[in-house]
Amino acid sequence: SDFLTSCDPVVADLINKELQRQRDHLELIASENFTSAAVLAAQGSVLTNKYAEGLPGKRYYGGCEFIDQIEQIAIDRAKQLFGAAHANVQPHSGAQANFAVFLSLLEPGDTIMGMDLSHGGHLTHGSPVNVSGKWFKVVHYGVNQETEQLDYNQVRELALRERPKLLICGYSAYPRVIDFEKFRSIADEVGAYLLADIAHIAGLVATGLHPNPIPYCDVVTTTTHKTLRGPRGGLIMTRDPELGKKLDKAVFPGTQGGPLEHVIAAKAVAFGEALKPEFKTYSAQVIDNARALATQLQNLGLKLVSNGTDNHVMLVDLRSIGMTGKQAEQYLSVVNVTTNKNTVPFDPESPFVTSGLRLGSPAMTTRGLEVADFTEIGNIIADRLLNPDSESVAVDCRRRVAALCDRFPLYPHLVIPVPA
Ligand code: PLP
Repeated sequence: SDFLTSCDPVVADLINKELQRQRDHLELIASENFTSAAVLAAQGSVLTNKYAEGLPGKRYYGGCEFIDQIEQIAIDRAKQLFGAAHANVQPHSGAQANFAVFLSLLEPGDTIMGMDLSHGGHLTHGSPVNVSGKWFKVVHYGVNQETEQLDYNQVRELALRERPKLLICGYSAYPRVIDFEKFRSIADEVGAYLLADIAHIAGLVATGLHPNPIPYCDVVTTTTHKTLRGPRGGLIMTRDPELGKKLDKAVFPGTQGGPLEHVIAAKAVAFGEALKPEFKTYSAQVIDNARALATQLQNLGLKLVSNGTDNHVMLVDLRSIGMTGKQAEQYLSVVNVTTNKNTVPFDPESPFVTSGLRLGSPAMTTRGLEVADFTEIGNIIADRLLNPDSESVAVDCRRRVAALCDRFPLYPHLVIPVPA
């Protein structure tokens, strides 16, 4: 804005450069998206000035009459969107949401069971560098080596042997449908709590395009900024109002102080958008586009983990073309395609190198790209990765990326000032 430019031209300039970068690149990071202009406006509002420790109607600060109404709208919309009896919209992030769940349900030393990071699990599901791995005994399940998909018998056997107090499903890099009912029966058999972390697939769940975990899980956590297309943040839900009260206390005062009410307002706006029929159309397009990209990559000879995708994400296994994830990310970055290296199941490489590349369709679908455009993205990626040493191919890929970006403008209302 003009205010920012005149007050702090250095930061303003960098923000404008980031906007230009977002406009010029094909954004294929599966965990990213572009919020609406309305979400941006709510987040950049005066609500950032307000302290509101507590919950709507029960605050530790005065002056919360409007904040209360906004947070209540966010809560009500989240409950409606996912069919939950209780929602807490205050977690600052997905990691904070999970941390609050651990504080509510577990004692240090308890056993938790989640998917191995290298098979698609998240850091907060028991990685040794995260509090979940430092404070709890961790047991990890993985995918089946043949199918590269969840193997519920293997999960069950491990759970029966290890008797975790908390079983976690929901992942950062799993391209297939999750059967929450099967997880429930395993959790019941061993007397575990069941947490579904739907950070990645929340938008698909909200629109009925992926099964809903709420009826089967004790707690459901999510981020709000991935397929759900809201501001960067977290959300906790449960079908059990009593557990809900415990979760509320674990968020505040358990693990957080003042809630970010400007972000909560942006969550309310995003949930409102997600309740509209257009969001279901969008989410269906996300899946169609991911499938088109997956199909084209496979047609052109690239191997995908589990041979495809059911959702918004896919993992290219680069071992068959003798390339690492680190190299592929770099090769694509040079032609303005943004992706991230990612381990594949049973990866022989370290997490800093990896044998895989994670791709997702949510962000470019928001820009308006359709199936034919994602087929072209598949062509660009394959051209680049199969001819990494060709400068002429690189030039051609860059031109085709620019053509796609030009056809689908991003935030046209935001104007970058031309230097005087
Ligand atoms: N859970 C899952 C499954 C995720 O994929 C992520 C983020 O990638 C998170 C939790 C953490 O979310 P945040 O980065 O907002 O802390």
